[in-house]
Amino acid sequence: MSVQDSAGLSPSTRVVSLGRPAHQPGAAVNPSVTFTSTYLADGDVSYARVDNPSWSGLEAVLGDLEGGRALAFASGMAAISAVLAQVPHGGVVVAPHHAYSGTTGLLDDLANSGAIQLRRVDISDTSEVVAALDGADALVAESPTNPMLEVADLPTLIEAAHERGAWVMCDNTFATPLLQQPLSMGADVVVHSVTKYLAGHSDLVMGATVTPKTESGERFGEQLHTHRSSRGAIPGPMETWLALRGIRTLSLRVERAGENAQAIAAGVADHPAVTRVRYPGFGAIVGIEVIGGAAGAESVCAATSLWTHSTSLGGVESQIERRRRHAAEVHTVPEELIRLSVGIESADDLLRDLIAALDAIQP
Ligand SMILES: *Cc1c(COP(=O)(O)O)cnc(C)c1O
Repeated sequence: MSVQDSAGLSPSTRVVSLGRPAHQPGAAVNPSVTFTSTYLADGDVSYARVDNPSWSGLEAVLGDLEGGRALAFASGMAAISAVLAQVPHGGVVVAPHHAYSGTTGLLDDLANSGAIQLRRVDISDTSEVVAALDGADALVAESPTNPMLEVADLPTLIEAAHERGAWVMCDNTFATPLLQQPLSMGADVVVHSVTKYLAGHSDLVMGATVTPKTESGERFGEQLHTHRSSRGAIPGPMETWLALRGIRTLSLRVERAGENAQAIAAGVADHPAVTRVRYPGFGAIVGIEVIGGAAGAESVCAATSLWTHSTSLGGVESQIERRRRHAAEVHTVPEELIRLSVGIESADDLLRDLIAALDAIQP
C-alpha cells in the first residue's frame, strides 16, 4: 500500500507521504524522473506536453494541501496567464493596486490591448472592492500582497464576488496552503509561484493552479488543462522532481521561517533607522521602511552579509531587496521599502547582521 487517502492526516504528514510510488518490496521510495517526449501507442499517455507522469507526485501533494486538483505550469506567471486567459474578451477584472509586479504588469498589458477592462482597488479595503465588483467577471486577489503585505478579507470578498456572478482567483504564494486555503473559503482557483516556498530552495522556476473538486471547479480545471496543453507552458521533469523534493520539508520550513520572521519584525521595530514595519502576523515576509529614502534602503541591502541581496523569496536562505529598484514595481510602493524574505537560519544571526546594516545608515 501507499498513502493515497489523506483523510485524518495532518498537513505535516501529507507533505511527506503523498505522491510516492505504491509500497511494494523493492519499489523505489521516490518517483523516478522520466525523460521522454513520447510514449508507445495505445497506453494511458501519448505525448509529454499533454500528460506527463513526472508531474503527478507534485500535483498530488499540492492538490491535497489546497483541497483541489493541481496542475503544474512552467512558472507562476504561466499559471496566472492561463487563469486570466479564461476571462471573456473585454471582460471586467477587479485587481489589487499592489500585487506581484509580474501580475500587475500582465493585467496592464491585457487592459491596454483591450482584452480586459481593469478596475484597480485597495484589496484590504473590503467595501471598495465590493463596490467595484458590480458587473465584474473576475476578481484577482493576492493576500498578503507582494510587497506591501496588505491582507484581504477573502471570505467576504469571495462571497460578494459570487453574488455578483464573478469568479475569484487567489494568489496563495505568500501564505502557502499550510497557513491559508482559499478554496475552502470558496475561491474558484488558487495560483502559486512554486518557485518560492513550495520548492523552497531558490533552485528552479515553476508554477501551479489548483481548482476545487466541485462541478464548476472540475470544468475550470479542464479549461486550464486544455490551455496548458495548447499554449505549452509545461514544467520539465527535473524541475518537477526538485519541487517535489523541496515540498517534503514545507511544514518545517514554514514553521521555522515564520518564527524567525516574528523575531525579526519585533527585533527591528524600535531601531532608529526604521520608520515602519509591515508584518501581517503570519508567514515569513516582512517589509521595513527606513530613513534616507531609496539610498538609505539600498545601503542597508548592500551592507548585510548573511542576507542574500537578490530578488525572489521563499527560499531557505534569507533574502533582502528594495523593491522599487525595479522599474516594473508599482509606483505607490514606497521608495524606502525593503522586502525581507526571512529564511530558516538562526534568528539571532539574522537580526545581528540586519541591525549592523541599519546602524550604518546616516540620517
Ligand atoms: C514570484 C511571484 C509570482 C510569479 O511567479 P514566477 O514563478 O516567478 O513566474 C507570482 N505571484 C507572487 C506572489 C510571487 O511572489
